[in-house]
Amino acid sequence: MKKFFIYFTLFIITIAAIFMIAYHNNLYVWENPKQNIWIANGQLFDGTSEQVRDNPGILIKDGKIVCIGSNCQIPTEVKRIDATGKAIVPGLIDLHGHFLSGKARDPEQGIPSMIWQQLRYLPSVRRELIAAGVTSYRSLGDVMPAILDLKKELSEQNIAGPRLFIAGPIFTVKGGHPTQGKGIPTWVVERMTIQSDDPSYVKQQVAILAEQGIDGIKVIYQGSTNEKGVVTMPRISSDTLLALTSEARKHGLWVAVHTGSPEETDEAIAAGINTIEHGIRHGNLINSTTLQSIVENNIVYVPTLGREPQGHLNIAALNQSGVVFGVGTDSPVEMADGNSYHNELSRMVNAGIPDVKVLIAATRNGADALGKLAELGTIEVGKYADLLIVNGQPWQDIRELKKINIVILSGRIALDNSTEPLAY
Ligand SMILES: [Zn+2]
Repeated sequence: MKKFFIYFTLFIITIAAIFMIAYHNNLYVWENPKQNIWIANGQLFDGTSEQVRDNPGILIKDGKIVCIGSNCQIPTEVKRIDATGKAIVPGLIDLHGHFLSGKARDPEQGIPSMIWQQLRYLPSVRRELIAAGVTSYRSLGDVMPAILDLKKELSEQNIAGPRLFIAGPIFTVKGGHPTQGKGIPTWVVERMTIQSDDPSYVKQQVAILAEQGIDGIKVIYQGSTNEKGVVTMPRISSDTLLALTSEARKHGLWVAVHTGSPEETDEAIAAGINTIEHGIRHGNLINSTTLQSIVENNIVYVPTLGREPQGHLNIAALNQSGVVFGVGTDSPVEMADGNSYHNELSRMVNAGIPDVKVLIAATRNGADALGKLAELGTIEVGKYADLLIVNGQPWQDIRELKKINIVILSGRIALDNSTEPLAY
């Protein structure tokens, strides 16, 4: 009997060890430390304007950009990067994703594989985002509390991946979007939504989430009624929307709203939101009043054209009115080749936004939408050293942003393709 227990214990230890090794194998952790970096030569697009200039030299220390120019005191211990013939641009920001939503992630591999991937915080997704140059990612609706755990693991640098900003669950009502989505298990929907049209209840929930560490909130403000006036998809009332925006503001949180009709969009703007997600949809055309109020209220418009094929219909009017665009993939809606971010950039250009403006949408405007322009989004002294070195001139042709040579995140070389062929 005693022998049995010894063998049994050894068996359990072996299984646990195999599990641990498998868990850490390809977990995707940072290989390089943060270091002093001096980037010389190349062309600098710092994101503060549409201008490009010869790089006068960029000094990175303790994760931040500490000096730009020829007068910088370069420390003796420094990693020197020669960007001759290359472009230096700020790191890219995806404003609309659902990180843990694994439905589009190798579904043919089956449920056990998906659970395994989720347990390890989707190492392949984190890797693909860095390979695509995405240094900041905004989760607009993910399963709780897993997304909070992921944010913690990333910010403590236990695992590699972009900076993560999160909304936590989505505010909607029973039967509203996305609760009726096909193929999403009920337990997932329960954990990624708060379904209520009670203003005092949602205020309480925002306060709790703020305490837990969310960065902003995501609200669905799109309903539908059929020709007979019957509600086919309910949504929160305008009172509840106002309760959400006022409570969010109290806690310093941004408000991202998934809108629908032109009227709903106008009401959302009046309620004091920060970003419009998806935009005016389903072939509806935007009117001049809405255009004006988007501009006047400094709202960032995230068209997610990969999600909303008819969204391009309004792009020219938005662009002519001077609306500030942000970039959102709504991934993993379209994540087959890890390239969804760059596909979205191309769609925005094809819809009529000049390449240079799309580059600013992908960088500076993303930080603006996150309320982090003082820390991110441009290459300026005092900001986090999140930047890319690419082979090409993406301000002239946005497709060249794919030719990533080096990704620097928080003063760490997160990816170095300079001696190897491109990742994709
Ligand atoms: Zn979404």
